[in-house]
Amino acid sequence: MQMTAKARILSLSNSALLRDAAYVGGDWLRSGETASVQDPASGEPIAAVAQCPVEVVDIAVAAAQAAFVDWRALLPRERGALLSRWGTLIRQNVEDLATILTCEQGKPLVEARAEIAYAAEFVDWFAAEGERAYGETLPPHKRDSQIFVKVQPVGIVAAVTPWNFPCAMITRKAAAALAAGCPVIVKPADETPLSALALAQLAEQAGLPGGVFQVLTGEPGPLTGALLAAPPVRALSFTGSTRVGRLLSGQAASSIKLVSMELGGHAPFIVFDDARLDSVVQGALAAKFATSGQDCLAANRIYVQRRLYRDFVAAFAAEVSRLKVGHGLDPATQIGPMTHAGIAQNCRRQIADAVAGGARVVVGERDVMSDGGNFVSPTLLADVADGMLISREETFGPVAAILPFDDEDEVIGRANASEMGLAAYVYTDDLRRGMRVSDRLEYGMVGVNTPSFTGAPIPFGGWKQSGLGREGSRHGLNAFTELKYVCLGDLAA
Ligand code: NAD
Repeated sequence: MQMTAKARILSLSNSALLRDAAYVGGDWLRSGETASVQDPASGEPIAAVAQCPVEVVDIAVAAAQAAFVDWRALLPRERGALLSRWGTLIRQNVEDLATILTCEQGKPLVEARAEIAYAAEFVDWFAAEGERAYGETLPPHKRDSQIFVKVQPVGIVAAVTPWNFPCAMITRKAAAALAAGCPVIVKPADETPLSALALAQLAEQAGLPGGVFQVLTGEPGPLTGALLAAPPVRALSFTGSTRVGRLLSGQAASSIKLVSMELGGHAPFIVFDDARLDSVVQGALAAKFATSGQDCLAANRIYVQRRLYRDFVAAFAAEVSRLKVGHGLDPATQIGPMTHAGIAQNCRRQIADAVAGGARVVVGERDVMSDGGNFVSPTLLADVADGMLISREETFGPVAAILPFDDEDEVIGRANASEMGLAAYVYTDDLRRGMRVSDRLEYGMVGVNTPSFTGAPIPFGGWKQSGLGREGSRHGLNAFTELKYVCLGDLAA
């Protein structure tokens, strides 16, 4: 019999990675209260993690203030060397980190390993990028003066992260902030604190000074509220739902913090009838079902041009019906459990609504109201209409919605008729059309004939209510830096 998730994380090669205390000011802080972390596939409790009382926020902020003095004074190359060491340790511990991730988040191990590699990529990228935080020298607008612009660290950063990418969403923020010279206080999602604490363990081992990288575990509302009320915290970097992003933006506004946000998606996936069927089917499979559909980039509305519609539905259905659902620790699994029950319920609600409105269940459970706990059977809905819930709201689960369309203008209008603007996909054999359509889509990222385009060098981020600012790339430092203009006057001999 396969080991349970708890047995697996209790037998890590590097047992030091399994931490249950918060990491504050370089110390591992226990508290009286703990909260259970569960294997989402079985509900088995796998750890009990410290719940920091709200007073710990003051301790963390004071530690960050103290650490900031020396951290900002280091040369970018010196900070980069420490970050590189952290990135190396993350890569060296990939198996254990992936096991922890799968046990608390549920994604298949193969995807968890890929996430750890992705997480390390951001650390490597920003370890080098810190050295390229170039300022400017400007032609003076006053006689006998010289003017220049410096790029300086904004100060203490609060990073609030989601459970769907519990490692990569932390490193994408923290590595950039640290490279810019800022201390970071991370508040991970309650579902996935173990991954965050394992990263903290490796940060400590890499020699990052205490107070420079901290992880607070506990109830999100009070802890994040206190962080955002603290004037020394100068920036908020948030990834999560648009609803919570809006709430935290309001809290950050009271002390005018620098805010960057990666929020919800509702990606259109547009298939023109000249696209190659096999490539589109594989693309749709990856864009819809990666991370068991719990992905902000997931293809939520698959628009297929009428002439290819029937063939696409049949070929896609054949692939979807083969997807293997199971425990993430089982090497054969392609679709794991939803990380929390609310996501599974939302999938069932959207399926029921679509079916009631006339959509066809081509693959999936016929009894759409059945309650399979956190598991949702991969589902393919055809003949979906624009007014249905699934066409209007992010799904965040393994449910694919296919909608027919007739022409280019029509599909661009329908794709843009959303308040979300994170990612979009276009499949066509006509490159001119690919360029034209990608130009008109109101989205921060567009994949043309590809389902995968993320990585450290790209500016990740959304338009409209999908976010503010960019993560990764050379733009990723902007969320953690301020410009300082200096005017040197009276230079006449
Ligand atoms: P969520 O907004 O519920 O939670 C995100 C974080 O906010 C978690 O750490 C959570 O503990 C915290 N939080 C929740 N309620 C809070 C409150 N009242 N006060 C303070 N903190 C609070 O989102 P989620 O369900 O964890 O993640 C799914 C959402 O995240 C989806 O909409 C998805 O599209 C989005 N997402 C976006 C990106 C991106 O890069 N754009 C990446 C991953 C996920």
